[in-house]
Amino acid sequence: MKEKYSVVCSECGEIVHDKYAQSCSHNHSGLLKTEYSKKDLVVHNSFGIFRFSDWLPVEGEILVESRPVTFHNADLSKETGLSNLSLTFSGYFPEEGARMQTCSFKELEAVPTLQRMINRKKEVLIIASAGNTARAFAQVSAISKVPVILVVPENSLSRLWTTVESENILLITVKGDYSDAIECSRKITSVECVIPEGGARNIARRDGMATVLIDYVMTKGHLPLHYVQAIGSGTGAIAANEAAKRFLKAGRYGSELPHTHLAQNAPFTPMVSAWREGRRDLIPDIDMPDARESIAKVYADVLTNRNPPYSIRGGVFDTMTDSNGLAYAVTNEEARSAGKLFTDCLGVDPDPAAAVSLAALLQAVDSHSIKPSDSVLLNVTGGGYSRVKEDFTLIPVPVTIKLPSNEPGIEVLKDISGWVKENV
Ligand SMILES: *Cc1c(COP(=O)(O)O)cnc(C)c1O
Ligand SMILES: [Zn+2]
Repeated sequence: MKEKYSVVCSECGEIVHDKYAQSCSHNHSGLLKTEYSKKDLVVHNSFGIFRFSDWLPVEGEILVESRPVTFHNADLSKETGLSNLSLTFSGYFPEEGARMQTCSFKELEAVPTLQRMINRKKEVLIIASAGNTARAFAQVSAISKVPVILVVPENSLSRLWTTVESENILLITVKGDYSDAIECSRKITSVECVIPEGGARNIARRDGMATVLIDYVMTKGHLPLHYVQAIGSGTGAIAANEAAKRFLKAGRYGSELPHTHLAQNAPFTPMVSAWREGRRDLIPDIDMPDARESIAKVYADVLTNRNPPYSIRGGVFDTMTDSNGLAYAVTNEEARSAGKLFTDCLGVDPDPAAAVSLAALLQAVDSHSIKPSDSVLLNVTGGGYSRVKEDFTLIPVPVTIKLPSNEPGIEVLKDISGWVKENV
């Protein structure tokens, strides 16, 4: 029987036999990509994103209803002057059928990533996050009972809740920021059976996020001319571009890759800076001077990744080159005002990052990069926090280990090892 998919290195074309690997046998930095044996996608009558399982690197499914939904909003179309604007919304907005209770598109990556762990019974994933990713994994772990280890900065603890009681989560807080959480989690992978989630390198993460574009295409019947997203790492945009290429190959959804319109929140805009100069390399002194200070100033802090997969083969630079992309720097003031416009039109609160996307869309309209009748997919990457609070009790994820630094000492590593033996 033909395999459902193969995994290919975007740098050398090697077919990688270990489907959970994060790089080829030459250890190339280029991203691995999934190639599905089904050239066209058939929508299944399944739960959540599993309706698109033809293009997900999973076998079987878990019963979670996480999925994006695509719809039109007359008020927002009027305000932006775009007659063919669609919102693909990942969050909680029950009137439109959006029921992702952790309110961000990180749930789209958590579902297939944890689903794959069911086949790897002896291992546990570790994920470092500043908030949305950890909450998404916590929720999907609580529903599926697949164990996870989460490492977050102490000050993002308020973002760590689920709507279902969790049992299989080891939550570690570190003193410091997102980079310290990453550093700490890297050290913990020395514990036997603990494996890193992989971020952009994880094919399940990207193909899960690609369901945003897939949902748009299945709703509208064609590829959009423009794809608009606020990015921190750019993984969502890479994923959308990969899925768009699959649709081009399928043949009946259009003949052009959607233009990628990427936004970051000023003053922290490294990829906007490098892209505008046509550079593949990020140069910290030019693209992110005073990184710590700039990061502290932005409204949408999920958009502040200092090591994004920008330069590597198959990364953000290649996505932008393939698709004739444009990049936008959005100020806090523009983002806040776009956020208010969004709430006025839809009656639901956007994640700050989604407000940044809308602000970038407004810039693109003003500069005529997007024309009034063009088809547009606005990726609303998160929203619905106030509604979720009305409909559910938010249960804080209990902290297991509280570190006074980013350093897990010998005793702590022993405790983690003990937890792994008991829970995995
Ligand atoms: C993580 C996140 C982003 C950025 O996504 P990337 O594609 O990884 O850069 C945007 N919006 C929200 C709500 C997020 O949680
Ligand atoms: Zn390779």
